[in-house]
Amino acid sequence: MKSLQELTRKNIWNLAPYSSARNEYAGREARVFLDANENPYNTPYNRYPDPLQLELKEAISKVKGVPAQCIFLGNGSDEAIDLPYRCFCEPGKDNVVAIEPTYGMYKVCADINDTEYRTVVLDEHFQTTAEAVLAATDEHTKLIWLCTPNNPTGNCLNREEVIKIIEGFDGLVIVDEAYSDFSSQKPLRAELAKYPNLIVLNTMSKAWGCAAIRLGMAFASEGIIDIFNKVKYPYNVNLLTQQQALKALEDPFEVDGWVKILKEERGRVMQAFSILPICEKIYPTDANFFLAKMTDATGIYNYLVDQGIIVRNRNRVQLCQNCLRITIGTKTENSELIAALRQY
Ligand SMILES: *Cc1c(COP(=O)(O)O)cnc(C)c1O
Repeated sequence: MKSLQELTRKNIWNLAPYSSARNEYAGREARVFLDANENPYNTPYNRYPDPLQLELKEAISKVKGVPAQCIFLGNGSDEAIDLPYRCFCEPGKDNVVAIEPTYGMYKVCADINDTEYRTVVLDEHFQTTAEAVLAATDEHTKLIWLCTPNNPTGNCLNREEVIKIIEGFDGLVIVDEAYSDFSSQKPLRAELAKYPNLIVLNTMSKAWGCAAIRLGMAFASEGIIDIFNKVKYPYNVNLLTQQQALKALEDPFEVDGWVKILKEERGRVMQAFSILPICEKIYPTDANFFLAKMTDATGIYNYLVDQGIIVRNRNRVQLCQNCLRITIGTKTENSELIAALRQY
């Protein structure tokens, strides 16, 4: 791996970050806070929230098994996807490599940050090799994006190949594990200590049932987290989000229950799809959704919209011609979908 200084944009490496009132005085014992021009009334919303969300990181650390100083929290994974570009990719000069098809935000953020986005198309099993991914890199490649389980395909990438990519690349490898709670594969965040160039993304938006509060996380070496913390907005995670996330984390067993039901329902819905005459193929999945190749994805999509049922039409996505991406809902919702499709 190149040194972090080599990988980081010069202006970011030399950046003197904004130092907020809450940064300069971070202790808790004080009684009188007259340092941040806050209104003394309207407790607790009058006060700026903890810029580094330390209490929340301690709670996440316990659940995820990652040291608190190796955690970055952001306004959804969106923020954790954008930050690596802003920190490491020199606009107009550096590039990144990603698999195709995958989650759309990696490319949107590349375009926003004027960074060339190179793709390695997956094979017919939605897999790739370290050789193919590494062959797409050059001396200006700063980041490799991997997503496992992958969106929209649903499958986990071959773990040995992912490890080979991490070991064989001198830049940073970002592995998005947004759906790892639904997978039986061991999450890569458990291997962080072994790989200084690895960044793992997680989110509260999927298994944790908290998409509305916007809380995403990146797990990485302390050095990488320090760079993210320098560049992020000072108060990037608001108090309401921090409070709600703490509440959700108090009961990880509720999440386990949801995951169990969703996986059972996934089996039931996929079984029903497999015998639908309008379904040509269902792809294996490790997520809370699956991809189905239909006879006419767009026609079926529009029909479902008319019934008030919205699925994701992936017909225009590379390798996903005539595919619908189906999120697993409640039992009632899933049954409604199946009943509607039987009437098509
Ligand atoms: C849904 C999803 C996310 C979550 O994004 P948030 O901004 O945290 O809601 C991240 N990565 C992938 C691949 C996803 O599908």
